[in-house]
Amino acid sequence: MIIIQAQILNLLKKLQRDRGLTFIFITHDLAVVKYFSDNIMVMYLGQAVEMAPSDVLFENPMHPYTKALLSAVLVPETGANKDRIQLRGELSSPINPKDECRFAKRCNYYCDACNKGTPPLVEVAPNHLVACHCVVPDSASQRFQLR
Ligand code: SF4
Repeated sequence: MIIIQAQILNLLKKLQRDRGLTFIFITHDLAVVKYFSDNIMVMYLGQAVEMAPSDVLFENPMHPYTKALLSAVLVPETGANKDRIQLRGELSSPINPKDECRFAKRCNYYCDACNKGTPPLVEVAPNHLVACHCVVPDSASQRFQLR
């Protein structure tokens, strides 16, 4: 099964390269995402929470949900990941969602600033957008950080 998946992915890569195609590829398989994608959009309950070039997203995830997702990637040598971020709490209902961060009930970084309504996608670096009230500019480093 894995061999067939790899063959299909390689075929898609070849088509992409040879014909200059763009694919929108939807998956939960982060290893495939890393291999296949130039740009990644992370979604949570139907909303974009982070967008960035693939290498940037894997090296510097900023949204708490993206951090949790990437922490779940297994280490190839051991098949385990001791640094995995555990998410607790309930999923928000996707039906008639309130004007709030949809990840709030499960977020390990929740703070008072999170009550300000749905966080907008903000460009925190060139082509890197994050929707989180707690990703803020840091005056010392001149970069955005998750507080
Ligand atoms: S806005 Fe608050 S609750 Fe939502 S992801 Fe950011 S830190 Fe977590």
